[in-house]
Amino acid sequence: SERTFIMIKPDGVQRTLVGDIIQRFEKKGLKLTALKMFQASMDLLRQHYNDLSSKSFFEDLINYMSSGPLVCMVWEGLNAVKTGRQMLGETDPFNSLPGTIRGDYCLHIGRNVCHGSDSIDSAEKEIYLWFKKDELC
Ligand code: ATP
Repeated sequence: SERTFIMIKPDGVQRTLVGDIIQRFEKKGLKLTALKMFQASMDLLRQHYNDLSSKSFFEDLINYMSSGPLVCMVWEGLNAVKTGRQMLGETDPFNSLPGTIRGDYCLHIGRNVCHGSDSIDSAEKEIYLWFKKDELC
């Protein structure tokens, strides 16, 4: 079935939101099929955010994302990609409704707690960028 890549960013880890975020996805009914915590290299993050490389905030984004450990996860289930995006809320927390992760937990677009794949294609790319084959269930 469909899979998505969800990542808790350094601010989410530092603010001890890991347990809550995992619990939201578990309670929703998605299945956790891969999980790891580590501090990513700038090189890996540049690949992940390749599409944003021309943006003015790109270097700030890479610095922030490499500033502390990340929690990387694969969640599987019906409409996993869109469901994940709905649960995260909008990129800018100001536009995110209460009840979403960003709506409930943050204010600033540059510190928006988590990442979720925006399409089935990018989910598959991101899963293979962030996980080795033998780390996936
Ligand atoms: P993510 O890929 O993290 O799930 P997204 O797909 O909702 O986010 P993108 O447009 O891909 O949004 O931007 C990636 C990340 O870059 C955002 O989550 C945010 O942390 C950061 N970002 C986006 N726009 C800005 C901005 N104008 N200023 C600062 N940071 C930004």
